[in-house]
Amino acid sequence: MIGTIIVDNKMIYMDNHATTPIASEVLEEMLPFYTTHFGNAASSHLYGIKPKEAVIKARQQVADLIGCKFEEVIFTSGATESNNLAIRGVAYAYRDTGNHIITSTVEHHAILDTCHALESEGFEITYLPVDRFGMVDPDAVKKAITTQTILVSIIYANNEVGTINPLKDIAKIASNHEVLFHSDAVQGIGKIESNMDMLGLDLASMTAHKIYGPKGVGALYLREGIELHPLFYGGGQENGIRSGTLNVGGIVGLGAACHSCSVAMDDKIEEKVGELRNILHEKLSSRIPDIHLNGHPKKRLSGNLHISFKGIQNQALMMSLEKIAVSAGSACDSESVSPSHVLSAMGIPDELALTAVRFGVGRYNTSEEIDIVADEVEMTVKRLRSIAPV
Ligand SMILES: *Cc1c(COP(=O)(O)O)cnc(C)c1O
Repeated sequence: MIGTIIVDNKMIYMDNHATTPIASEVLEEMLPFYTTHFGNAASSHLYGIKPKEAVIKARQQVADLIGCKFEEVIFTSGATESNNLAIRGVAYAYRDTGNHIITSTVEHHAILDTCHALESEGFEITYLPVDRFGMVDPDAVKKAITTQTILVSIIYANNEVGTINPLKDIAKIASNHEVLFHSDAVQGIGKIESNMDMLGLDLASMTAHKIYGPKGVGALYLREGIELHPLFYGGGQENGIRSGTLNVGGIVGLGAACHSCSVAMDDKIEEKVGELRNILHEKLSSRIPDIHLNGHPKKRLSGNLHISFKGIQNQALMMSLEKIAVSAGSACDSESVSPSHVLSAMGIPDELALTAVRFGVGRYNTSEEIDIVADEVEMTVKRLRSIAPV
């Protein structure tokens, strides 16, 4: 069983790529670490015992989900930090070997902007283009590798359009050229193949709040033997790679969320999520003319439905949907009215990109909710189109 959630039911939550609700069993495990077991996991007296044990358990739960060694998990404050730590950490540790990094144009800003910053420090970055589905071509990675290349970093599943990249193929190329391979695996871990060896990853970023855990805590998988330059200096926690008192409550939450995902994967919960998404897609496309699916038709996250509603500004549509929480583009960019860099990289024209809405179906959505969402979206799109026909 994967438990339940407690939510405000005024609006249907269908924005699970932006964040997910905290699973009840996750919250329950966390709470004692904010009261009775508030101690520092590094303390050698009585108050340190439970927190220390809890961190050990959580580290093992993360390791179990991603099939790695206990020592290969580094706790961080989330995927933004994990991405910064992976990219900068490798760049600074291996700068004597080379100064070239390969990434893609559809990465999260935590990767893109870190790479931009490194360019001003003398690193060379190749931003690989993607096809019209938002996918990176492994051959393009191969062609981009030079004798200076130290790292390839490619997003696993895109947070906007849900497209899943062929990590295994890219991993083979990177390893044949003895180049390290990192992935921002936030949207994939816990939902699709999550085993680091199967994926061929050397480093991977993850975060708890996208897998029904709390915000502000995540992890970096770091394959044994790889050097990493720290971002923070201090108490030397996490083998000196990530100083700072451990966020025990959050780490417990991350561990519990990983365990819950392991259970959900065994129970094939993602297949159910995929069925709900397909029903929603089917209902919308049969009832509303002139809509367009963005992202790969097959190789996409089960919960992702990214649709352009021709002729309607996505902001206007979102604001008009009174019963449904969805987003236009990614959550981080939702304030901006410029088209998403991901859709632009896919070659989607601005006028279509600005009509795109992302539905993020999650494990707690129900078929009743899908019906309500389909009805309200249909009604709202038709109303908006009748007010402002193109
Ligand atoms: C949410 C997200 C991040 C950022 O994670 P935080 O834990 O919020 O910093 C990075 N990459 C992807 C793909 C994401 O979806």
